Amino acid sequence: MSDQPAANRLAAPRFQALLAPCVRCGLCLPACPTYHLFGAEMDSPRGRIALMRAASENRITCDRVFRQHIALCLDCRACEPACPSGVQYGALVETTRSALAAQRAPGIIERAARRLTLRELLPHAARLRFIARGLRVYQQSGLQSFIRWLNCLPPHWRAMETLLPPLSARDSDYAHPAPALGEPRGTVAFFRGCVQDALLAPVNAATVRVLRRNGYAARVPARQTCCGAAQLHLGEVELARALARQNIDAFARAQVKDGGWVAIVNNAGGCGAALKEYARLLADDPAYAEKAKRFSAQVKDISEFLIEHLNIPPTGAVKTRATMVDSCHLRNAQRIVRPPRDLLQRIPGVELVELAHPERCCGSAGVYNIVQVETANALLDAKLAEIAESGAETIVVANTGCHLQMQAGVRRAGLKARVVHLVELLDESYTSKK
Ligand code: SF4
Ligand code: SF4
Repeated sequence: MSDQPAANRLAAPRFQALLAPCVRCGLCLPACPTYHLFGAEMDSPRGRIALMRAASENRITCDRVFRQHIALCLDCRACEPACPSGVQYGALVETTRSALAAQRAPGIIERAARRLTLRELLPHAARLRFIARGLRVYQQSGLQSFIRWLNCLPPHWRAMETLLPPLSARDSDYAHPAPALGEPRGTVAFFRGCVQDALLAPVNAATVRVLRRNGYAARVPARQTCCGAAQLHLGEVELARALARQNIDAFARAQVKDGGWVAIVNNAGGCGAALKEYARLLADDPAYAEKAKRFSAQVKDISEFLIEHLNIPPTGAVKTRATMVDSCHLRNAQRIVRPPRDLLQRIPGVELVELAHPERCCGSAGVYNIVQVETANALLDAKLAEIAESGAETIVVANTGCHLQMQAGVRRAGLKARVVHLVELLDESYTSKK
């Protein structure tokens, strides 16, 4: 009886329709990082789909083993481009996780942690900035070095602490629209992200500078909130839908004021994928379905936008051997692979080298590196080994989670490489005197 809600959700006609295209061919297996790591069918996309199908037909219960195989999935969606039948694996795993979340009442600690992070922190930019300021004091006071030296934190806390980047001394200032430089070519609305805004403010600042340099005023609509990706990945669909509605309203209000813009630009692959999927997320909401479609149609990753609107070529030399660590949700969900690479190749002095397996996840995957620490570290180690082999001095990222994960990995492995977002390298070229 305890499996009833999950079984109901998985038995829904829409879920059955998502399962139907899988013909069990197995062509997705080589693309799957967890299959590569464990070599087990049940940790492959085909195996997980078989489990979902069996649960949806009430042939198995959603027991501990079932949950474990679903939890080990990174939701990296590398299986989607590899699938000739067009299986929407992301939608399948997210529906399954939401069914599992509905089925099981989490313990008091997990409930509190979920409430705190997913509801009370991520959707509130001001609270996140306040925490970031506190963390800056933690870093600058020497307490961080002491805690790291003591090595006394429990594993999940240690995993989180390790991800903390060196925090910048200044918060982003979004009070006023940033005007275009040179010939004005329009306005873009900027989606600033939640963790990106709090922990990686220099990336957002560089994004705005690069947009301005190319002739675009950057407007950051007030009352925008977290994209909802983390909530969705953890099965909190209703919360993700509420955040999507808030974002749609916030951008619509700003658009009325501004009288239109060229695009809604974001600089994090995970957020961009979530924003582009609002149309699917709100498809059965009569009040928002059409608005969501219009919103999603305007969303562009910064690389997707700049590849078409790089009106001012970067001319300053940035002499470095660089490699791209793809964001899974940029590569597999948004299918954006060439634009960041093409932009890098337009920077004088950049020598671009490819990793042996650029399609493999770095282990960040939302909160995966906090909840599945061992598997995430194994994936990170494999990525770092490929980077070391490539001889890259600069690791270019395009997503918040990957940025934090790679910075932590480079520090742990003692690599000499630096980690930068694509826009930071473009910004560096624009300001370079060489
Ligand atoms: S989403 Fe990633 S980890 Fe999950 S089944 Fe697909 S390829 Fe494997
Ligand atoms: S998900 Fe696609 S590639 Fe994988 S087994 Fe099913 S049909 Fe084949």
